[in-house]
Amino acid sequence: MKCPSCGEPETKVIDSRGVGDGIRRRRQCIVCNSRFTTYERLQSANLLIVKKDGRREDFNRDKLLTGIRKACEKRPLPIGIIEKLVDNIEIELYRLGKAEVPSSVIGDIAIERLQSIDHIAHIRFASVYREFADLATLKQAVDILMESKAKEPPAGQLRLISHDEFNANRGGRRRNK
Ligand SMILES: [Zn+2]
Repeated sequence: MKCPSCGEPETKVIDSRGVGDGIRRRRQCIVCNSRFTTYERLQSANLLIVKKDGRREDFNRDKLLTGIRKACEKRPLPIGIIEKLVDNIEIELYRLGKAEVPSSVIGDIAIERLQSIDHIAHIRFASVYREFADLATLKQAVDILMESKAKEPPAGQLRLISHDEFNANRGGRRRNK
């Protein structure tokens, strides 16, 4: 594992711990001392994805990652959360213990997980992956989004004050003069 800063091939492991079915190692370059993290996971037996048209293809982690990244584009998400999400989806898929999994199952798992991370990304992903079976499903997703947005006014927008509050303020200022 080459140091990403200086290319030195020798690094020392300063911490390692299990995450899911893999191992996370914190490494330090012996030359420039920069630190980085590697993940090691078992190459599982081939998992086949059954596509809508019945064709089968190997499960492709990168493809899933690309799809989710696209849905999360320009969303204010913490660094590393997308990779972690894909890790978790992958672990969940292998835990199913099946040789073949319909593509819709992956989509459903991803959609469900995205819902708790980011509503916009959730809707984007769902609209591509599930092609929203019907308008009611799309409306439902948008409604949930609108509800959650209504609770928190956009940053920078002032709270609306009532007419009474406004008059009270004006009165107050007048009294001060
Ligand atoms: Zn280095």
